[in-house]
Amino acid sequence: MNHILKRKLKFYTKESLKFLIISFIAIGIISAIILIKYKPIYKVKLANNEIGYVQNKKEFEETLKDNIQKTCNGKVIDNITFNNEPSYELSLIERNQKISEEEVLTAIKQEMQITYQYFEIALDGNTVDAVNTKSEAEDLVKLLKQENSSDNLDLSIIEKYTQNENDVKTNNVETVKVAMQNKIEENKIIEQEKKEEEERQNAIPSINGIKLAVTPISGTITSRYGAKSRIRKSTHTGLDIAATKGTPIKVVADGTVTCASYQGSYGNLVKVDHGNGVETWYAHTSKMNVKVGQKVLAGDIIATVGSTGNSTGPHLHLEVRINGEHVDPSLYFYK
Ligand SMILES: [Zn+2]
Repeated sequence: MNHILKRKLKFYTKESLKFLIISFIAIGIISAIILIKYKPIYKVKLANNEIGYVQNKKEFEETLKDNIQKTCNGKVIDNITFNNEPSYELSLIERNQKISEEEVLTAIKQEMQITYQYFEIALDGNTVDAVNTKSEAEDLVKLLKQENSSDNLDLSIIEKYTQNENDVKTNNVETVKVAMQNKIEENKIIEQEKKEEEERQNAIPSINGIKLAVTPISGTITSRYGAKSRIRKSTHTGLDIAATKGTPIKVVADGTVTCASYQGSYGNLVKVDHGNGVETWYAHTSKMNVKVGQKVLAGDIIATVGSTGNSTGPHLHLEVRINGEHVDPSLYFYK
């Protein structure tokens, strides 16, 4: 009994082994046939549309990354999103099937939204230039503050993001540094000029806030305010400046003409009201260029020097009046 069982078992073992070997050979042959005809490959899909094949998923993803880095020309990518994320599926295709990784690459890149990051550097809140990274920006600001330690520099870094590659207008750090330094110098000059202009403005004489920016004519002072003269009954109410007949007379400040007519001993008299109770008078003129009610600007030629009225020769009698009272013009002109 035991004998029979043993023999039977031996038989089955032998048969099983035979079957296994045949199976292996068969699988091997089938596999060989398949592999001769087909090759394993990754099918790439975008939104369920097959766009092509790639040989090796990992290598392809590396290529894609390198390609993106190369095309962004050193610009810093903050993140990448896909309109449709590519999917990879391992499959067998016929060996003679052409695979075009180039096309897959192009198709995937069209689905990508790249967000770039860069850093603007501003002086007094105005952007001067930009660099690619935050550390570049921070180092540069630190350096500029050190190099210009005597100035109170208002430097700031502005973080910027864009999906339009052309908006990223960054420069290398050295170029930005030069641009910043130039801007700092430029601002210093502007500041200095502003200060000088302020000083100039402050130096301009003014009455009741009315700046007397223009001298009417240049000439020789022949009679001062308050002088006594045999041709006048009272003391002199203005300042006489002798000049040749026809010399243009400029109005000293903006205002409105309140008189432009012959006024007895004043001869042809132009009066200009400058506001705030301030008036200037121009007497003995030969010709008057303005009419009552006309607006004039400081420096406008309102009349020409003459000798009309009570006058012994061509000169300008200049009078300054505050709230109707004459004051010494040489407090403001011809000092
Ligand atoms: Zn006079």
